[in-house]
Amino acid sequence: MSAIDDALANNATYAQRFDQGGLTAPPRKQLAVLTCMDARLTVSEMLGLETGDAHVIRNAGAVATEDALRSLLISHHKLGVREIMVIGHTDCGMTTFDDGAFRADLEKQTGCVPVAPAAFHAFPDVETSVRRQVKAIVQHPWVPDALRVAGFVYDVHDGRVRAVDG
Ligand SMILES: [Zn+2]
Repeated sequence: MSAIDDALANNATYAQRFDQGGLTAPPRKQLAVLTCMDARLTVSEMLGLETGDAHVIRNAGAVATEDALRSLLISHHKLGVREIMVIGHTDCGMTTFDDGAFRADLEKQTGCVPVAPAAFHAFPDVETSVRRQVKAIVQHPWVPDALRVAGFVYDVHDGRVRAVDG
């Protein structure tokens, strides 16, 4: 059985006991989380979130990319989110390469030089990156001062979320 087949079989079981059909779109806790796609992060469990509590926006590295900003602006302006957590994590794969070398490798392997993605946003230090992402969100001209944005690092070895000082 492939991983997709397995997921669909699990969903059939999930749907049999599903009782969340009455939820509305605005997140109950007025919270959005921007975090990494890393498979070791189970965001709902590590933050005690229930279905319907929060928006969770994930990409490689918890980076405030154009698309992540798009989602966060919609979270706040359309769906009532008032607080944003940016959560990087220890042992992030984004610290293991740099953009230029990765791009050069891919170009060499494929012979193609596409225009997108313009950047992979790899970084050498997770705390520095989290600070940068928080700053990128806070300084966006459509993000009001009333929207709280805070940075954190999740430790994949002990399960703790620690604040990153601004
Ligand atoms: Zn990561």
